[in-house]
Amino acid sequence: MFNRAVALMDLSPGLEEKIRVCNATYTVRFGVRLRGSLHTFTGYRSVHSEHMEPVKGGIRYAMGVNQDEVEALAALMTYKCALVEAPFGGSKGGLRIDPREWDEHELEQITRRFAYELAKRDLIHPSQNVPAPDMGTGEREMAWIADQYRRMNTTDINAAACVTGKPTNAGGIQGRTEATGRGVQYALREFFRHPEDMKAAGLTGTLDGKRVIVQGLGNVGYHAAKFLSEEDGCKIIGIIERDGGLFSEDGIDVEAVHKWIAAHGGVKGYPSTTYQENGATLLEAACDILIPAALEGVIHMDNAAKVKAPLIIEAANGPVTAGADEILRKKGCVIIPDMYANAGGVTVSYFEWVKNLSHIRFGRMQRRAEEARNELIIAELERLDDMLEHRWSMTPDFKAKYLRGSDELELVRSGLDDTMRKAYQDMSAMWHSRDDCEDLRTAAYLVAIDKVAASYRAKGL
Ligand code: GLU
Repeated sequence: MFNRAVALMDLSPGLEEKIRVCNATYTVRFGVRLRGSLHTFTGYRSVHSEHMEPVKGGIRYAMGVNQDEVEALAALMTYKCALVEAPFGGSKGGLRIDPREWDEHELEQITRRFAYELAKRDLIHPSQNVPAPDMGTGEREMAWIADQYRRMNTTDINAAACVTGKPTNAGGIQGRTEATGRGVQYALREFFRHPEDMKAAGLTGTLDGKRVIVQGLGNVGYHAAKFLSEEDGCKIIGIIERDGGLFSEDGIDVEAVHKWIAAHGGVKGYPSTTYQENGATLLEAACDILIPAALEGVIHMDNAAKVKAPLIIEAANGPVTAGADEILRKKGCVIIPDMYANAGGVTVSYFEWVKNLSHIRFGRMQRRAEEARNELIIAELERLDDMLEHRWSMTPDFKAKYLRGSDELELVRSGLDDTMRKAYQDMSAMWHSRDDCEDLRTAAYLVAIDKVAASYRAKGL
């Protein structure tokens, strides 16, 4: 995918190679004494590009973690950050572990040890390398990592900025947990503001009433499906999980399924829907929007031709293989690429990092000042209202809504929305401005690589 894009660019071969390669990958093997014996774990932290520092990217816990995967995901982080203008280079980490096999206390010991190994080599550091959650990790692991770093760097005033995705009571920011899902929602809203792009997918109207199939009801898929159904009128007709898929043309209650999974460990047995043991077949069902939000490589050479969705939004990293991408492109399917679609997570991570470095919550200084100014306007409107003997009046809830200054969550959402809109516009403009740019993915690469290249050139490379 990178090669397809750079072939259209006028980069010097040296710079092209410099951008392509992964700068460094550190492999760690460490032992932790658990359940009476010594267990050895393998972990990685890969740094793709340091054209900006710190480098940024999640840490995933999964049995499939390997060096190739971590390096590819680190590269994706470089381009993702460039595209949404988050001032970071790209990095990624992984630990080969099945987190469901260990209890909370054991996971804490393993995580702290992994964090120790990385932190002592500056592979966790507020100004050099800032991890975040990814598959199999969440705010709990980030809190352990932050605490471990703090123990090792007791005088670092910026210690909290060494990792993002922390719980709000441990230096986190409002809205980070749902940020990636929220970003998917904002991305789709922006897509539906671009008639030319909708036409390419053969879609009309708005998000309202669109039939959606989501694969993976983890943090990203759950929030995306929840917001799209509750706030934009989408109908979630299919949900694919590890143990099978649910289908109902009438729409499925995302919240209810989420609770069912928490109670039963899977979707099987959930009422009033059709259950399919081989959930992957639902990727091929007719719908308007397909949201792969789980693993990479789920749409591949063998099933791509059968996918009927005219629009795919890659909420996961790399869910469509390069081969499948070509088949889908030739079929006219529009793909909103991962580099853009799931960038909401790192965008809000950026806000969290800035909050940690500034040591103050967003909105703390201006919220009440904003309210005081709004109060002035309301008072003036009320005075006019009296003067005109109430021939004119304000809509009932206008006053309450207008008076309230923005809190942290509203500011985070506003920043995220702005970021997602701007990045989409850049990507879409690139797509339509060049005859040789065939799709949004290539456009995203062109925009991102251009920015990375400019940054290297500015350094004299
Ligand atoms: N792991 C997420 C991603 O792949 C978030 C990274 C971050 O917040 O740094 O984009």
